[in-house]
Amino acid sequence: MTALDTLPPLREVIRRHGLRARRSLGQNFLLDLNLTARIARQAGDLGACDVLEIGPGPGALTRGLLAEGARRVVAVEKDRRCLPALEEIAATCPGRLEVVAADALAFDPAGHLAPPVRVVANLPYNVGTELLLRWLTPPDWPPFWQSLTLMFQREVAERIVAAPGTKAYGRLSILAQWRSSARIVMTLSPQAFTPPPRVHSAVVHFEALPTARHPADAAVLQRVVAAAFNQRRKMLRSALKGLSPDIEDHLKAAKIPTDARAEQLPLEAFCALARRLEGQI
Ligand code: SAM
Repeated sequence: MTALDTLPPLREVIRRHGLRARRSLGQNFLLDLNLTARIARQAGDLGACDVLEIGPGPGALTRGLLAEGARRVVAVEKDRRCLPALEEIAATCPGRLEVVAADALAFDPAGHLAPPVRVVANLPYNVGTELLLRWLTPPDWPPFWQSLTLMFQREVAERIVAAPGTKAYGRLSILAQWRSSARIVMTLSPQAFTPPPRVHSAVVHFEALPTARHPADAAVLQRVVAAAFNQRRKMLRSALKGLSPDIEDHLKAAKIPTDARAEQLPLEAFCALARRLEGQI
């Protein structure tokens, strides 16, 4: 038994602190500590790592991370109503939990975390994709994190791990698979959450690769992929026309058929095109 085990059940914490879930903050809380311990274990060995958690809410996953031995957890929460509940957890683990009251989109992890860093979060749906794209596309690589273990709507998780030629394949698949290995490690039904969301959820685990699978500038690759998949049914020579008047020449130079469609093109080809367009767009 540890001091963490003396904390009250999550349902009681929520009632005592009046934490009625707010849809505007994407609040669907996990209450089952066995489940949050399982999610924490998917992140790998936490003992030698600092963990960044976004959106701890009342703290079910935070407790799981601490119980699984995280060296330190930095938990960034926008909803100030959750802070007293989180401070109660911090009091049971002196020096191991730093609670930061902030919007994750405005939070700079530098100075808060020591490497190696793992990011683990049951992300608020409204900011989840935006944060993921930021973590995957910094100009320099490797990033500040070693792994990401993140909850998404199942449909988003499927897009992240999708292969070329499938309906789910798109911008997220390419940017995730370019510099990391990503796999779905758990799926959860709506009933796992309070209140239950309308859709199933899935946890995706990403390990940062030491270098990208193929060289490319992150900003150029993002522009190419966004343009290509904005009009995914069009041939690339039309979909990418807005990027460069000479797009047909660039496609040919990158050995990409000009009548191919974005969803057929492997990661390697997008990177070849991004290299070709660097300094041109
Ligand atoms: N981690 C908790 C759990 O598993 O029960 C809560 C998960 S809930 C899906 C998302 C959490 O993210 C909420 O606590 C919400 O207040 C918080 N949140 C929403 N937008 C945020 C933002 N921009 N920055 C930081 N936290 C945010």
